[in-house]
Amino acid sequence: MYGQALPIDNTRLAAMTAEARLRAIARLRAAGLRPTRQRTALAALLLGDGRDRHVSAEILHDAARHEGAQVSLATVYNTLRAFCQAGLLKEITVDGHRSYFDTRLDDHPHFYWEEEGRLTDAPKEQLRIERLPDIPPGMEVAKVDVVVRLRRA
Ligand SMILES: [Zn+2]
Repeated sequence: MYGQALPIDNTRLAAMTAEARLRAIARLRAAGLRPTRQRTALAALLLGDGRDRHVSAEILHDAARHEGAQVSLATVYNTLRAFCQAGLLKEITVDGHRSYFDTRLDDHPHFYWEEEGRLTDAPKEQLRIERLPDIPPGMEVAKVDVVVRLRRA
C-alpha cells in the first residue's frame, strides 16, 4: 500500500445530505448545467457544504461509490471537466498526469505536498510576482499557476 495513502484534511468531501443536494442543484442550474442524478451527486460531494477543497478525480470517484452512486472514473473526469467549463471549479495540474479540482475560484497559489500527493492553498497575500517573462507576439497570458512543491527538509 506504499504510496496509496489518501490525503486526509482538505480533500474530505461534503456529507451527502438533503441540504447538500439542494445546494448542488442550485449551483448546477445557476451555471447552466442540467442537474442529472450523477452531476447532482458529484456536485453535492464537492460543493454541498460551501467549503473550499481540492480533490482528484480518483478521490471523488471513491467517495461517490461509497455513497452508492453508480459512476465510472471516466464519467467523473468528464463531469469535472464540464464543471470547470461552467465555472464551478478550477483545474490545477501538478504533474503532467495529475490534476486537482479546486472549488475556490479566485486566483491563489498552492502548496503541493509531494510525499502525500496533497494540494492545499498557500497564503495569497504573501505572494509577489514582480515580472513575467516576455511572451511571444500575438499572445496573451491566459493564466499563471503558482504551485510550490514541498518535501520534508
Ligand atoms: Zn486552492
